[in-house]
Amino acid sequence: MQSVLESILVPCPNVTFGCTKNSSYGKELTHEKECNVAPCSCPVEDCDYIGSYKDLYDHYDLTQLKRFTLDYFSCGNSFNLPMKISDKKIVIRMEDTKRLLFAVQCFKEPCGVYVTVSCIAPFTREVGAFSYYFSYAVDGNVMSYVSTEMKRVLEVSSQVPKKNFMWIPHCLLRDDGWLNIVLCIKISENDQQNM
Ligand SMILES: [Zn+2]
Ligand SMILES: [Zn+2]
Repeated sequence: MQSVLESILVPCPNVTFGCTKNSSYGKELTHEKECNVAPCSCPVEDCDYIGSYKDLYDHYDLTQLKRFTLDYFSCGNSFNLPMKISDKKIVIRMEDTKRLLFAVQCFKEPCGVYVTVSCIAPFTREVGAFSYYFSYAVDGNVMSYVSTEMKRVLEVSSQVPKKNFMWIPHCLLRDDGWLNIVLCIKISENDQQNM
């Protein structure tokens, strides 16, 4: 009976997004976790677009014509990321090694601000894993935060993060409402070993 069931092929639920993979019965969840075309939601406010991470990148590229100039970066290089706390979220693009979208978010709470970054893509080998580094300087104080493995999301959450964030206490915030962060995103060392 078991082998009869195993011979039944189940199509991937992402077939409408272009996945042609069939899994044997009972193993479909294993594939779903690795599916490269798992649908990702556009991080732009009021946009309902859903597509594979590659299509999402192209969609973003085509639709965000009025983007600010510093929204792209190269993997492994640190860059300045001025962010207005009230903006809550900015989208940045990795353009060289891989074409991927990342969301940098800040969450203002009474005693400080949480800052986090996530990669908008499924958790697959093709996408790989990333680590990141934040630093924040104000009045001669420098704070830094290192994450060895960045969060991977199919949809950017508006919930305050429970882990994987830098916390900037209220007393270190500037009066003008801006965060001057330096960010560096790179391919995680664990992933390089697998490549
Ligand atoms: Zn699939
Ligand atoms: Zn969109």
